[in-house]
Amino acid sequence: MEKGKSKKIFEQAQLSIPGGVNSPVRAFRAVGGEPVFMESAQGAYMTDIDGNSYIDLINSWGPMILGHGNPLIADAVTDAVKRSLSFGTPTAAEVTMAELICSMVPSMDKVRMVNSGTEATMSAIRVARGYTGRDKIIKFEGCYHGHGDSFLIAAGSGAATMGEPDSPGVTKGTARDTLTVPYNNLEKLQEVVHENKDQVAAIILEPVVGNMGCVPPIDGYLQGLRQICDDHGIVLIFDEVMTGFRLASGGAQELYGVKADMTTLGKIIGGGMPVGAYGGRADIMDMVSPKGPVYQAGTLSGNPVAMAAGLAMLGYLHDNRGLYVQLESVQQIITGGIRTNMKRLGLNYQINAVGSMFSLFFTETPVVDFETAKTSDLTMFGKYFNAMLNRGVYLAPSQYETLFLSTAIGEAEMEKIIAANYEALQEIHS
Ligand code: PMP
Repeated sequence: MEKGKSKKIFEQAQLSIPGGVNSPVRAFRAVGGEPVFMESAQGAYMTDIDGNSYIDLINSWGPMILGHGNPLIADAVTDAVKRSLSFGTPTAAEVTMAELICSMVPSMDKVRMVNSGTEATMSAIRVARGYTGRDKIIKFEGCYHGHGDSFLIAAGSGAATMGEPDSPGVTKGTARDTLTVPYNNLEKLQEVVHENKDQVAAIILEPVVGNMGCVPPIDGYLQGLRQICDDHGIVLIFDEVMTGFRLASGGAQELYGVKADMTTLGKIIGGGMPVGAYGGRADIMDMVSPKGPVYQAGTLSGNPVAMAAGLAMLGYLHDNRGLYVQLESVQQIITGGIRTNMKRLGLNYQINAVGSMFSLFFTETPVVDFETAKTSDLTMFGKYFNAMLNRGVYLAPSQYETLFLSTAIGEAEMEKIIAANYEALQEIHS
């Protein structure tokens, strides 16, 4: 596989962009390789600047659930561009968008548009703090909520102690207000909630985690969280930036039948454009400026081109709910194929999957939280990633990222993925 042009431009990129990329995971550091630079994409395939084509299993980290170049979205965007790229005034499309989101995610009475998932989560915790008059938030080890300071916090020594900054530049003062507990463990959470009685504004989590690889909630976990929040007046925030409109048209909350007080959205909501949103119960969202005292704003929020893309995407998903059944069956065929391959090769690695999200972990230990995710053999994963890339399958370049399927993946692609998986597993074990 020729990669000369990607190699050359990556060298050039590092002179003017930190690490040569605009988001760290793209640099392939975790898999011991150099990134390939893409030029175009259509349907299930991306093509790089050297002319190699890949079946896309990240789909822009989630947004491209209908595959690339969907004419419905492209036409809506083209039409919007002709009217204006941005007004900085309200537009009717924003109202349609808000109504559509609230109709698809029933726990959301009101919603505010922003420009990324990071903005959505940062804003949501500010509102939860404003609403409760409390400072602390609880998050879960291995969950990712964007790069807001309050989320770049590692667990301190012992769950009861305050967190530690997880990146230079995050202050100890900020870390003090973020408590981190293990995912899928209600007892530990109960302890921390009791130790910080009347101080916790919000519990925020990925209802199905994508950011330690795919890790589903164990039975009753989300219901247990709901109960703890009700008992203690804590705002329950589901970060559905990944899972929203992906696992069901109403997100993970529809799939698991648990209502959040607030929800953060991103990725699919913009159809590939930079969009995020946060919303929830009317009494909480009415805290947001200019209705209420909690400040939050954005020059390009509700941008007309982004709204056009999002409306086309969400409208389609709203009207085609059967698509989630189709996506899940594609997942089951692929994960079933991988399981059969592993059996033939005498391997017993773990596969986690929910709907169109799945991960293959290079460990024999069931993965239910970050501790168990970390039992995965990262060297093996790196080799596997590169073996798949060389066979034309583009995976997430980190063990701690889920894969995302699109409706553009058909029989031919499934066969190619399963065949490539067999060869790759065989190669890395030879
Ligand atoms: N929350 C979750 C669950 C995410 O997966 C991500 C991004 N992968 C974010 C928030 C941040 O979104 P963005 O990258 O758009 O800022």
